[in-house]
Amino acid sequence: MPELPEVEAVVRTLRPFVVGRKITSCHVLHPIAVRPSSGRGARAAAARIERALPGRRVVGVTRLGKFLLMPLDRGVIAMHFRLDGQLVWFEATKTTGHIDVAIGFGGAGTLGFVDGRHFGRVEFEEDQSQIAGLKKLGVDSLSKEFTRPRFAELLAKSSLPLKLFLLDQKKVAGIGNIYSNEAMWLARLKPMRRASSLKPAEVARLYKSIGSILRRALECCLHPAPNFRDPNWWFQGIEDILNLYGREGLKCRRDGHPILRSEQGGRSTFWCKACQK
Ligand SMILES: [Zn+2]
Repeated sequence: MPELPEVEAVVRTLRPFVVGRKITSCHVLHPIAVRPSSGRGARAAAARIERALPGRRVVGVTRLGKFLLMPLDRGVIAMHFRLDGQLVWFEATKTTGHIDVAIGFGGAGTLGFVDGRHFGRVEFEEDQSQIAGLKKLGVDSLSKEFTRPRFAELLAKSSLPLKLFLLDQKKVAGIGNIYSNEAMWLARLKPMRRASSLKPAEVARLYKSIGSILRRALECCLHPAPNFRDPNWWFQGIEDILNLYGREGLKCRRDGHPILRSEQGGRSTFWCKACQK
């Protein structure tokens, strides 16, 4: 599931493909991919996007939390990959395989948004402030605005268990299940701790751990970078830098105790009872 590092790697890799290029066509092959968050009007939204995009130029590719944003000379496209949405690039106007949304750039190629499980979304709005998912987004966890004092302040105000606090995109944006588990392990903090119970030294450890795991994961996601020309591309080697992922019952790399799995908010928390307090 793409979290901040994966989306950031997609953002950086996508720029040379689309920035400065004019959109010549847009075909929504599966309207569910553009369904508004209200859950209604997928077909109307598809017709609107197909009509609106041609003729507009991509001026950048950026990211907020787990959203990829493609600002246009007028308006903005927002993409959310959810579980396993991805992008594929075709050198021609012709596309093959399962494509949900095909955005054509004349002779340069076609960008396909692909999500066979249909959880991912593509949105278009004339103004970024109209993208519903962005309105509620908290501070981006790789941005300059994500400072230790800011983080401490957010934690102090929350009675959520630490794990659920980290997953809450309204508080800190970009961290998902995998990197929240890793950050808490690196910081030696128990996922069930109440966010507001963290002492200054613990806040400092967690803040440092979040930055450290996100930056390491981003490096990993960029080497090798996503290969949009391969319809089956996916990130490689990330499990090598993770200490908990896929390691339930195996030995904690710090102290040899078994890695436990607990449910929190319907998601799996992996942790070590011996070293996370
Ligand atoms: Zn341990």
